[in-house]
Amino acid sequence: MCSGTTNIELVKNLAQAKIISCKRVISAMRTVDRAHFANQHPYEDAPQCIGFGATISAPHMHGYALENLNQYLRPGMNALDVGSGSGYLTACMAEMVGASGHVVGIDHAPGLVSHSKAAMERHYPEWIQNGRVHLVVGDGRKGYAPMAPYDCIHVGAAAPEEPTDLLSQLKSPGRMFVPVGTSEQYIVVYDKDTNGNVARRQIMGVRYVPLTDLEKQYSA
Ligand code: SAH
Repeated sequence: MCSGTTNIELVKNLAQAKIISCKRVISAMRTVDRAHFANQHPYEDAPQCIGFGATISAPHMHGYALENLNQYLRPGMNALDVGSGSGYLTACMAEMVGASGHVVGIDHAPGLVSHSKAAMERHYPEWIQNGRVHLVVGDGRKGYAPMAPYDCIHVGAAAPEEPTDLLSQLKSPGRMFVPVGTSEQYIVVYDKDTNGNVARRQIMGVRYVPLTDLEKQYSA
């Protein structure tokens, strides 16, 4: 367990546990305070309810995701965060791609998008103003075509099977980090090479909420 009493302590514990080791990931997670995006127990290494039938993922899962996508979140790159929820990971991705990069966060729950936008406008106002971050309401299973293709795609909810629409919005080369499965789920890392060939790796078993229809999420 990597919980801390402050954001800095939490990030130090994640680094000590070797969940995160890339300097850029550590720096982004130190810069973006989880408390800006989650008001309940932000420094506990566990998922927390954020309303609208959603949870902010545990810090160690955010850490694994950023470590895996590190090479595809370099300055100037273009990234998509599907199921952006609280907006925390979208903000870490925005920190990593820098002022010349772009990150789209898409979520189907309008309340979550407005909360995350309010948090972003409060703590990182220039990111919204200058277009480094776009937060949009929509069905993330279809990706977000207006800003495609993406150097990387992070998916924060489980796809029941291979997410082909999202794969088609990935650049060559590009990488996607996505939980896949229903009763059994795995994080699958999809790597598209320069010729458009796709390789798949299951990296760990996980339990995520599903990518679903909005009515099902509200009634779950
Ligand atoms: N990554 C976010 C949220 C994780 S919870 C965070 O850590 O804060 C999963 C999120 O996926 C929820 O916000 C939920 O609203 C969203 N979601 C589920 N199905 C979706 C769909 N079809 N389209 C877009 N977002 C979806």
